[in-house]
Amino acid sequence: MQRNILDRILAQANDLKVLVVGDFFLDFYVLIDPEKDEVSLETGKTAFQAVDHYSSPGAAGTVVNNLTALGVGTIGALGVIGSDGFGFELRRHLEEQGVNMEHLIQCPTRLTPTYMKPLRGTGEASEEQNRIDFKNWTPLPRELEDQVIEALRAEAPKYHALIVADQVDQEGLGLVTERVRSALCQLGQDHPDLIILVDSRRNIGEYRHVAIKPNEFEAGRVLGLKTAAERPEESVRALSARTQRPVFLTVGDQGQWVCAEGEVRQIPAFPVAGPSISWARGTAPAPELCWAWLQGPRFGMRPCWAIWLLPSPLPNSGPQAPPAPLNWWHATSSGLSSGPRSNQGGSAMPVVAVDIGGTQYRLAVVSREGEILLHQRARTNREAGAKWLLPRLRAGLRELLAKGEHSPQAIGIGFGGPVDFASQTILASLHAPGWEEVDLCGELEREFALPCVIDNDANMGGLGEYTYGAGRGFGSILYYTVSTGVGGGVIIGGELFRGSHSQAGELGHIPIALDGPACTCGFRGCVEALCSGLAIARQAREAVEKGKTSSSLRTILEEKGGLTAKDVFDCTASGDALAQGILAKVKNAFARGLIGAINCFDPQAVVVGGGVGLAPGFLDGLEEQVNGSLVIPGRRKIPILRGSLGDNSVLLGAAALAFRTIGTY
Ligand SMILES: [Zn+2]
Repeated sequence: MQRNILDRILAQANDLKVLVVGDFFLDFYVLIDPEKDEVSLETGKTAFQAVDHYSSPGAAGTVVNNLTALGVGTIGALGVIGSDGFGFELRRHLEEQGVNMEHLIQCPTRLTPTYMKPLRGTGEASEEQNRIDFKNWTPLPRELEDQVIEALRAEAPKYHALIVADQVDQEGLGLVTERVRSALCQLGQDHPDLIILVDSRRNIGEYRHVAIKPNEFEAGRVLGLKTAAERPEESVRALSARTQRPVFLTVGDQGQWVCAEGEVRQIPAFPVAGPSISWARGTAPAPELCWAWLQGPRFGMRPCWAIWLLPSPLPNSGPQAPPAPLNWWHATSSGLSSGPRSNQGGSAMPVVAVDIGGTQYRLAVVSREGEILLHQRARTNREAGAKWLLPRLRAGLRELLAKGEHSPQAIGIGFGGPVDFASQTILASLHAPGWEEVDLCGELEREFALPCVIDNDANMGGLGEYTYGAGRGFGSILYYTVSTGVGGGVIIGGELFRGSHSQAGELGHIPIALDGPACTCGFRGCVEALCSGLAIARQAREAVEKGKTSSSLRTILEEKGGLTAKDVFDCTASGDALAQGILAKVKNAFARGLIGAINCFDPQAVVVGGGVGLAPGFLDGLEEQVNGSLVIPGRRKIPILRGSLGDNSVLLGAAALAFRTIGTY
């Protein structure tokens, strides 16, 4: 992920409003110096000498901490704490974060739930002593319950989301009593668009009309299984059928199973080695999940997919834990190679790149620098389509990953056909049957437990040239791949421009000739209908058939019974006038398309690849012709460059997309 995109996402969180409801705890640390031990004159026992203390909000307070770290602009707290010193301390922390505490009720008869943790000794020799817990051992009084329920009903509609931290194990002793739980469920029913996400230690099965986030044991208890990890997909479906809302099931190193909008996906976790702690991405805590849920749709993602937006979750490991998960996210996203993810030292770990084209498919392991470390290629069977290819693709990936020396972190795919990027679904193949609505990424994620991302091959070709090839160093480029057809990719300010339906950048389907030849898209006179390899061959045949002049093209047609674009280029090079005329016409048509697209997007450069695009002579003279015909000619000069990656452009673009997805490019 690029820094500017990350900053944009974070900046946009500023207008989010989240209400945190539940048990606000204080973690209170006491530092004891063993060298200062004294003996009590009264009891004869050792009196520990505290030399310092510090504290941090816990439970629902941790949720607040994380929301603050994620840049959420408005955070409200709804809970009950005591009027004691711990309550004072807790409020001080929340006040520092600008939390709205109007409904954080302070009550003299309740204790502020506190874990007091005595640490004896300093540094590495420090040893945690018996913890002293301050809890309420009487049920929440009814009048407080009423106040909480009233505040819930009045406040909830003012927020985008509610996060409920139901942390107290004993029924009735914490904030979320049976009546409060009913009020929450009712709220969910009355406000179906309000996100209510509940994290509950023991009552997850009692909730309806709210989203829940159980772990495998909590979910297993509800469903009568030892652990939901045995049947995660069924489990999330069953729970979601009960709650009528999304379910996020965390299953240790399997990551997270999500059921949302009737669809189940596994969001794999992958281990991230930190300085002293190990985090697993995918098992996101509630604040991160809620944040992604709110932010995802702003970037055209659906909730379950938006989890990819997540930074690594915050570890629950005491006072030394970094205050914000964003620390390493910033580090890795700004291109530092020493982030926790690259725990083998050196540069970031590689990814797997896949290129699925019309005649062949290729798999590779690619380094962040764009070096192809391992590579496989095989021919496709067009007629047999998806059914034939999918098992071979998986076997190929298994083989590649079994080589084991590189530990790829993600899979990126460039696919020869339209892809709905937002839902990550293949819409169809341009070459083979059976690809309609195929969730290839979902399948690969489940099998290989690696994040997987897919886009159409022309976009990937463009991203490849932009990242590693001729487009490197430019902010905005137009990419053309001219071969059998004409594909395009538009990169603006470092990002692929995909449009509202993932179908932007079809530079080959700009109509340039009135009443021109029929195009594959169903329209007439498109760039593709005039400049593609097939179009060039067709024009050559037509010219020979109606032409009176002699031409070596005629000889070839008579000998081979057909003509290809390559024949036209070969004959042009050897001075054949008819071939030269055809090519000149094709280049004129291509120039028109370019002028239209450049006037439209005003890029810094154009990169042209593909078999025809890279054929000798195709780009000659085009740069002058095009630049002389732009709106306000002479004000700028747009270079028209040959692609430098050859047939690796899609593969390397897919790798670049995978690196972007996991935030290491
Ligand atoms: Zn067309």
